[in-house]
Amino acid sequence: MKNINRRDFLRFSSALTVAGAGLSTTAKAVPDNILSPDRMGVLVDTTHCVGCRNCEWACKTSHGIPAEDIETFHNREVFKEFRRPGNDSYTVVNEFENKKNELLPINVKYQCMHCDKPACVSACIVGAFTKQENGSVIWDTDKCIGCRYCMVACPFQVPTFEYEEALKPDIHKCDFCHSRTIEGGIPACVEICPVEALMYGPRTELIRVARERIRRNPGKYKNHIYGEREVGGTSWMYLTSADFDYLRFPKHKESTAPGVSESIQHGIFAYFVPPLALYAWLGGIMWISKRRKELVNETEQEKQEETK
Ligand code: SF4
Ligand code: SF4
Ligand code: SF4
Repeated sequence: MKNINRRDFLRFSSALTVAGAGLSTTAKAVPDNILSPDRMGVLVDTTHCVGCRNCEWACKTSHGIPAEDIETFHNREVFKEFRRPGNDSYTVVNEFENKKNELLPINVKYQCMHCDKPACVSACIVGAFTKQENGSVIWDTDKCIGCRYCMVACPFQVPTFEYEEALKPDIHKCDFCHSRTIEGGIPACVEICPVEALMYGPRTELIRVARERIRRNPGKYKNHIYGEREVGGTSWMYLTSADFDYLRFPKHKESTAPGVSESIQHGIFAYFVPPLALYAWLGGIMWISKRRKELVNETEQEKQEETK
């Protein structure tokens, strides 16, 4: 069978994306998600954050991502450039000038927001992304076919893709430390934060706490809990002293943000793409995925034979 290389695979995926994007810009449906009233969340109080980046270090080490000593994370040189989460850093902290007090910059930690109605879940055509009852949005690497619809759909531009991985590229993002929380633990970043800028707890309770902080400190906080309502609500929510626009939070309405990719998924059915074409399309993706996994296995076998 003819080998398909990474470039061909990506080109094929892009062609599908472009073709699909033309179908519609209006989502036709949002799949049901499991939304437990007791689901958990994190309240990020940016007025407490000191920009130590311990959370970045803890996130890496708890996910087996190589990280230098924690002291190296205290270097504030990184704040010269705005950073986004990546394949090897599921969370990043940025720094903004504080217009009210230049001695106290505003530090903001970013990661997946763990949306209540996640566009990534809606967009994923093979069900690799799921919203869990406890609030986490996780994904199954084995189901992922690398189509990257989740990346296009995400209203916060969170999932990243291993473009540099030729054989088995994966999607990466914060998983809300699902393996820890499912056993009653707390996320690694929350656990290490030295100033309690991150509070983990039931989402409803976090909203109550946030409202109370705003009520008691009207001059300190903006009267807005970011994530309480944006895109239908997120598990991670923020309090700040500055405008969210200034801190580069995207402006979103309360309605869910299914994104263009979901339109592809639902547009197929809404606009009667002939079933044969659909099967050919999905078949193509599945074949590429299968072949990719075969290549990985072959390479691993070759490596094992070489070391014998
Ligand atoms: S922020 Fe993006 S990746 Fe995270 S749950 Fe929401 S849509 Fe999915
Ligand atoms: S919840 Fe876990 S995966 Fe997400 S940013 Fe915190 S440490 Fe990282
Ligand atoms: S560990 Fe806490 S204080 Fe330090 S950067 Fe992260 S959120 Fe801010």
